Amino acid sequence: MITLKNVSKIYQRGKKQTIAVDDINLNIEQGDIFGIIGYSGAGKSSLIRLLNRLEPVTKGEVIVGKYNITTSSEREIRKIRHSIGMIFQHFNLLWSRTVRENIEFPLEISGLDKKQRFQRASELMELVGLADKADEYPSTLSGGQKQRVGIARALANNPDVLLCDEATSALDPKTTQTILALLAEINQKMNITIVLITHEMQVVKAICNKVAVIEQGKIIEQGEVVKIFNQP
Ligand code: ADP
Ligand code: ADP
Repeated sequence: MITLKNVSKIYQRGKKQTIAVDDINLNIEQGDIFGIIGYSGAGKSSLIRLLNRLEPVTKGEVIVGKYNITTSSEREIRKIRHSIGMIFQHFNLLWSRTVRENIEFPLEISGLDKKQRFQRASELMELVGLADKADEYPSTLSGGQKQRVGIARALANNPDVLLCDEATSALDPKTTQTILALLAEINQKMNITIVLITHEMQVVKAICNKVAVIEQGKIIEQGEVVKIFNQP
């Protein structure tokens, strides 16, 4: 589903060079909930942003489904991004729009008419448990509810992959559990491959089947969660 071949990301600021991702090879299979875990500064955020080309790679290739996104044009990338949803630590919602309007936004971009958007947004609010919040503004919602809006928006265009950038790091432990349970349900029900980055072992143990441990831009260990974290 997702393959990284000898991928590096190097930031150049004047004379200063930072190797954020250092020659990584990775294979994420369809249906995986794949965790990438590491300390702050390890390169997680850079890595996940390479998967939908929010950041271009410096070296190597990123294959997502049938697309080599390293070589795709900007126009192709915009289309490919419809099949790659993303959620964020700080939700990145539109604060002047209601829950419904936030969820309809990506549907508007992909050209659905008003009636279709309304119907799809209603389904999505039902799925994430926000049916009664359609006309609320994000500022009136709890952190967990805000992330549910983020999830509904990310799923609007029926993506094959959902990227989660520290999606529960701003939430308390109990809310984290409910959001992780929702992500696991989405993975099961909708057969969506999930890639998440986190600094929390508990998150990986709670929902991931596979994990890669990243340190100074390199993957130092990867495999099945049960094998890596539950050694006797
Ligand atoms: P993590 O998500 O694991 O905290 P990041 O990918 O954010 O790691 O950062 C990895 C390294 O790359 C760090 O040294 C960070 O300072 C550097 N870095 C991240 N983004 C940029 C950027 N836009 N420009 C320059 N350096 C960056
Ligand atoms: P970041 O990802 O940069 O931390 P946020 O997603 O938290 O940003 O916020 C994006 C913008 O929305 C910022 O200008 C922030 O001040 C504003 N904002 C954040 N939370 C709220 C809120 N509850 N109500 C209204 N505006 C907010």
